[in-house]
Amino acid sequence: MNTPMNSPTTLACRIHGAHDLRLEPEQAPDLGPHDVRLRLGAGGICGSDLHYWQHGKVGAFVVREPLVPGHEASGVVEAIGAAVTRVVPGDRVAINPSHPCGVCDYCRSGRGNLCRKMFFLGSASVFPHAQGMFRQAFVMGEAQLTPIAEAHISLGEIACAEPLSIGLHALHRAGPVLGETVLITGGGTIGCMSVLAARLAGAAHITVCDIHDRPLEMARTVGADQVLRSDQVDMKQLADSADVAIEAAGSAAALATCLMAVKRGGRVMQVGTLPAEIPFPANSVMARELDYRGVFRAHLAFDWAVQAIRSRRVDVRPLITAQMPLARSLEAFELAADKTRSTKVQVTAD
Ligand SMILES: [Zn+2]
Ligand SMILES: [Zn+2]
Repeated sequence: MNTPMNSPTTLACRIHGAHDLRLEPEQAPDLGPHDVRLRLGAGGICGSDLHYWQHGKVGAFVVREPLVPGHEASGVVEAIGAAVTRVVPGDRVAINPSHPCGVCDYCRSGRGNLCRKMFFLGSASVFPHAQGMFRQAFVMGEAQLTPIAEAHISLGEIACAEPLSIGLHALHRAGPVLGETVLITGGGTIGCMSVLAARLAGAAHITVCDIHDRPLEMARTVGADQVLRSDQVDMKQLADSADVAIEAAGSAAALATCLMAVKRGGRVMQVGTLPAEIPFPANSVMARELDYRGVFRAHLAFDWAVQAIRSRRVDVRPLITAQMPLARSLEAFELAADKTRSTKVQVTAD
């Protein structure tokens, strides 16, 4: 076999279907003029990666060919194409997994996350699938990269830019919260990122509820004022109390809590992926003049997240539970799936 010297053979983690995760060798593609070859720094396992692994799909996105998961990653630059100016070999970089087309009506009106031709890494939303970053090495256009010069910020923290961007985008979509009361259902990674974002945005009081203790402890650690076991206390105590409710648990019961707990005229943000068909008290949205808003991925908030992390204005370190080499991906996925033992689990090149 003829192996070009500039594209070494490396290991990739691939999901072939439900409960079929394999480690396979591959060869990184050659570099185009604006391309950068990266070695994986850290790659966070997200709820959507877990869904692909456990069910072979996320909502309507079904794995139809082997999919490399992973959209929350940092990297170290190994080689650059002839025309690359943003980075040099050795740079540690944040990687934006979102590739909007830049020319559709949504892109041109500033809502690139809703792009008609979105290519989002590690996603089966398109076919052929957008292959992700749980691989030792990969090639990325330089436009996706932001070099992080701050040596004290770890590759694990940098890899948290994408999930933090979801929290920041949720708070951006919620509108100003300075001095307001915020309820967040779900104390997982996105719930905790929403706590961090709500604090950054000046919320006066943040309540988080969950059905496990560990996520609630984590939510407290990152700044929640009050935490509640929604399966143990009477949630009606929250009725009509929050200016903003953020659904980050992905359950119908949590959404019902949000709709009940928000004040008249308040805003309910749906961040979590809910089951396809659930009861929805639409008349309470009408009679209480609620604003019901969706939050899908992020757009400008990715760069806000990078800035917040590199300056440590937001400290994501408590959320990183463990890092494991790609060779132990299965173990890493199992740990990530257990919310009583982990928040964010990341894989590393070796
Ligand atoms: Zn994610
Ligand atoms: Zn577009």
